[in-house]
Amino acid sequence: MSYAVFSERMGLVNDLLCTVSLLQWDFRTQMASGGAETRSHQIASVTMSAREALLAVETRRAVDAADTATSGLAPDSIERRSIADARAAIAVHDAIPEALLRRRTELATTAHNVWAEARRTNDFALFAPSLAETVALSQQLAEAIGYRDTPYDALISLYEPGTTSADLTVLFAQLKAGLQPLVAQIAGAKRPRTDFLYRLYPLAEQRQLVRQLSQTLGYDHDRGRIDEAVHPFEVSFGRDDVRFTTRYNSNCIVPSVQGALHETGHALYEQGVDPALQRGALVTDLVGLYAVGGISFGTHESQSRLWENHIGRSRQFWELHFGMARDLFPEALGDTTPEEFWRAFSAVKPGPIRVEADELTYDFHIMVRVELERALIEGSMQVADLPEAWNAAMQAGLGVTVAEDQLGVLQDVHWSTGQIGTFCNYTVGNVMAAQIFAEARSQPGVAKGIERGDYGPLRGWLTEALYRHGRRFDRKTVLLQATGNGDDTRPYLRYLTEKYTELYQLDAST
Ligand code: ZN
Repeated sequence: MSYAVFSERMGLVNDLLCTVSLLQWDFRTQMASGGAETRSHQIASVTMSAREALLAVETRRAVDAADTATSGLAPDSIERRSIADARAAIAVHDAIPEALLRRRTELATTAHNVWAEARRTNDFALFAPSLAETVALSQQLAEAIGYRDTPYDALISLYEPGTTSADLTVLFAQLKAGLQPLVAQIAGAKRPRTDFLYRLYPLAEQRQLVRQLSQTLGYDHDRGRIDEAVHPFEVSFGRDDVRFTTRYNSNCIVPSVQGALHETGHALYEQGVDPALQRGALVTDLVGLYAVGGISFGTHESQSRLWENHIGRSRQFWELHFGMARDLFPEALGDTTPEEFWRAFSAVKPGPIRVEADELTYDFHIMVRVELERALIEGSMQVADLPEAWNAAMQAGLGVTVAEDQLGVLQDVHWSTGQIGTFCNYTVGNVMAAQIFAEARSQPGVAKGIERGDYGPLRGWLTEALYRHGRRFDRKTVLLQATGNGDDTRPYLRYLTEKYTELYQLDAST
């Protein structure tokens, strides 16, 4: 009985947060730009209602009563984990002063507008005061949340709980050492043919291809829908309504296919959550106030990258499914082989822009951001010194010269909306994707399925190991259960080395 009361309180919070997500989805896919101002108030109000529902005295009483009533259950039972999550989230929210929260929310809107203008006019000095205040508020937030080694850890915990700045230092050192020689070797190698990627690809057929590809991977079209947005994303309102978007360019096939493969990966995770967790604490990020079935942003990213890269950018995938694309685009792809398509789709080209980066250079973009964020939050760097430090780091890491701040420090939206601590998710996800995929593929049924283009066994294994649990176990626990290891860069480095040695016909002995 008391657990039922607690569940109903969590259901209310989840319902409100799903409503926020629906307002966001509409904002990003349907709404005319004129509605932006009104919509931002609606989103803020419903989010605050969810927070109030979580922190209400009724919820606190329900948590205590349910705690007592379920004390005999196993600590990792759905009930005990849900109660523990709710209690921990309430403690985090209680620690954050109301005034700080309000100022952060206000600043997110104004700083975003200033950033957009600064990026448009290539004027970092315009954005610098807003960013300085964002850093100051983030430092206060870190103090409120608490940390052991560095205030940056408190901010990381909002997006990647349990992962620390020290963990990232180890991860980054290993990746740099493993990837830099490979990037250098490729710089001197023969470039694959890519001309056919930039031909006329009619949009109706691209939409058809996106549908077919997502269906091939196992996306359930009866429990979701696909739309169009400039920045592709996935969003779920419970496991039975999981939507994603992609973007289209009639003169290039890459953005729509890449977006579809990536977002389908996110969507498969959400569609695979156990129905028993619906509307509960274990499908709700109660700290970040976001309805989501995945454990952490990095874990979510591991699944988008697994499906996008390990499956969708593999040679085998295009040998099996290239016909699907050629049937739809006989003119654009008539003179292209599956192997050429695979090579072109995975080609490496170091550049200044993160969202356009290839698989091999992507993590360097992340390392630059994480290291600068940490320095800003720890106070060892000032905002005014950021552009120069950014450009130097891009030069040192990738040999890329950043010509202007538009293409450098001003390119990402994250800092303008107060999100500091979230960039590490992408690299954590890349590393984890390779670990999980290597383990999955060692299962005989999974490997055989992939060979014939049947992804059901892979999906089944991932659902069992990861998807069905929702947020029941933390990231490191799930990784340990699934692979027998903690964070380990070796499978990722092995995967990239093997793939790019073959793709660029590098001398494997060097
Ligand atoms: Zn993603």
